[in-house]
Amino acid sequence: MDLNLNDSAHGAFPLMLEKKPPLSGSAALAESMRCLFCFDAPCIKSCPTGIDVPAFIKKISTGNMVGAAKTILESNILGASCARVCPTEVLCEGACVLGADHEPIAIGRLQRHATDYVMQRGIPVLHPPAVRSGFRIAVIGGGPAGLGCAAKLALFGHQVTIFEKNLLAGGLNTYGVAYYKMKPQVSLQEVELVKSLGVEIRTGTFVGRDISLQDILTTHAAIFVGVGLGSGKKLGVPGEEGSGVRDALDFIRDIHQLPLHKVAVGRRVLVVGGGNTAIDALVQAKRLGAESATLAYRRNEEEMSAYHFEIAAARGDGCQFLFHAMPREILLNADGAVCGVTFRDAKKNSDWIEPCDQLLLAIGQPMPSVLIKQLFADIALNEEGCVVVDPSTGQTSIPHVFAGGDCANGGKEVVNAVGEGTKAALGIHQYLTGKGMKFPRQSSRLGVLGSPSGAGILNPVRVKES
Ligand code: SF4
Repeated sequence: MDLNLNDSAHGAFPLMLEKKPPLSGSAALAESMRCLFCFDAPCIKSCPTGIDVPAFIKKISTGNMVGAAKTILESNILGASCARVCPTEVLCEGACVLGADHEPIAIGRLQRHATDYVMQRGIPVLHPPAVRSGFRIAVIGGGPAGLGCAAKLALFGHQVTIFEKNLLAGGLNTYGVAYYKMKPQVSLQEVELVKSLGVEIRTGTFVGRDISLQDILTTHAAIFVGVGLGSGKKLGVPGEEGSGVRDALDFIRDIHQLPLHKVAVGRRVLVVGGGNTAIDALVQAKRLGAESATLAYRRNEEEMSAYHFEIAAARGDGCQFLFHAMPREILLNADGAVCGVTFRDAKKNSDWIEPCDQLLLAIGQPMPSVLIKQLFADIALNEEGCVVVDPSTGQTSIPHVFAGGDCANGGKEVVNAVGEGTKAALGIHQYLTGKGMKFPRQSSRLGVLGSPSGAGILNPVRVKES
């Protein structure tokens, strides 16, 4: 199914208004002038993509909006979406020196102000070199890591093709971010930005099914793997097959794909999980009209992986929380629909029934290790199933294969994925051109040629553009 990009379909739900709304021009100017433009600014170090925060804020303060956007997008091609979905409270804004005694600078909203300025006007700020390198590189996965890598490679002058299994690129940003944080249109604008750099995106193309890895290897000199996590995990308790029991990400995906009045929302919604996806689903359900939205977590609040400010905001929306709640059985009515969950109180060692008519599961997503092993039999994975990479280059145990994002980090923020994809682009550029080499070129080549899987045997060094 395609996305529903008709904003009016969401107009009857004012509570879906954005969490971080845009700043007016005068508000952005005033906010930018509060910045101290620190030397050795901690806000830069805390950004996984290393955006030069004081530099872009300085440009906003002088009215140079195009220059500000250029500074942001050079480091982070998904600067517009990261401005909306980044946990700035614990990253750049959490590090801002003003935060000790005053409100930290609203870095995320300033970043949004500058990137919106150029994207809404279609102003091009990044330009690939006129002379191409002659190298062709394949990117598997068109989510934040793949887009970050592809954009940087294109700016180095390489020809890049992204293979994306979904009908639309953008990954989680397009399909899985809570609507009140970011509309999918922003993600699709960023996909267009990447394409404007000359990157080809083949959507609806599942590598291993619609195109073989061997076909890719015959025409590409290096590969970046940026595939995301798999479908949500199951609880493994009786009743999970009942109607009204859903994966929380599927629920969020519905909000992106359907008019809101057609999204199935229960009267009493129960969410099981303790991470940020659980909070997103919880808040979305409440804002879409659920009479009660309750999150059940098996440990205490301090052990939840969701950010404390997100939990506090959910409470502000009227959501409720149950702790030490271990699901034992999902109760179904005569029609096979969920009507409650039997929980074991992990502290009191007693059971109770929590009624609900919709149950959303947000208990994590499996690593895509099976898929990756099918493609690259010899690639090294760690105990968690993450692809092992050199942290400074993204290079895997197969020299011409690089990786980043969820499949390498186990599932972090969008900004981490973009940062790792961008870093891997630099690693690939070094590997192919020998510029700024951090690893021995000769052994890398021998490693490719000697790979037991035979991967990359055709021409690991240079595959010319056709
Ligand atoms: Fe400006 Fe705060 Fe960064 Fe200093 S730490 S440069 S005040 S945003």
